[in-house]
Amino acid sequence: MKKGLLIVLSGPSGVGKGTILKEFVNDPELNLAYSVSMTTRKMRPGEIEGVNYNFVDRPAFEQAIRDGELLEYAEFVGNYYGTPEEAITGWLNQGKNVLLEIEVQGALQVKKSCPDALLIFIAPPSFEQLAQRLRGRQTEDEQTVNNRLAIARGELAQAQQYDYIVVNDTVEQAVEDLDCIVRANRFQTNNMKEFLDEVNHNA
Ligand code: 5GP
Repeated sequence: MKKGLLIVLSGPSGVGKGTILKEFVNDPELNLAYSVSMTTRKMRPGEIEGVNYNFVDRPAFEQAIRDGELLEYAEFVGNYYGTPEEAITGWLNQGKNVLLEIEVQGALQVKKSCPDALLIFIAPPSFEQLAQRLRGRQTEDEQTVNNRLAIARGELAQAQQYDYIVVNDTVEQAVEDLDCIVRANRFQTNNMKEFLDEVNHNA
């Protein structure tokens, strides 16, 4: 069976990743499985264990690292975040496409260990607009917003290492662009090897 595609999405805090993802994951044609990460950060109001994250303490996370259970992990603003490998391998082998929503350090680790992974970076239309969106939320104080903007600057500087950049001007357009990228990727020669082998074998 044809293996599924590993899709890795990143983008700075405030860029609107969550909204885009909700639309994207629900596209039945994409046959997507969403990987739930493990984290040591505290659960936020409204979050659900096992749905948003598997929330664990630091010793449990460090044990998972030692046991080699994580495809990648990173420390982000004082907390660990990581992707458990087991479910992903299963899904990919069943031909399902798998979506990871992770930060930049983790995404670059995935690219190293899985060179066929598709790395997509969601960028704001401008840095100004990102700052406006973060301040507009009014859920964080100025210091927190400035910390997030400093991190965003670092992340944007790494965006050129991704395979594709999607600009989130409007959610509809960003989701459509993501769909296009994933669809086109299916027909890349790399991903059509099995088909070509079969056609050539029977020629
Ligand atoms: P938040 O705390 O806002 O949910 O997430 C903070 C950052 O961690 C986001 O950029 C998110 O994409 C990233 N993140 C979530 N899960 C993972 C993961 O499994 N691995 C890595 N490397 N980053 C993650």
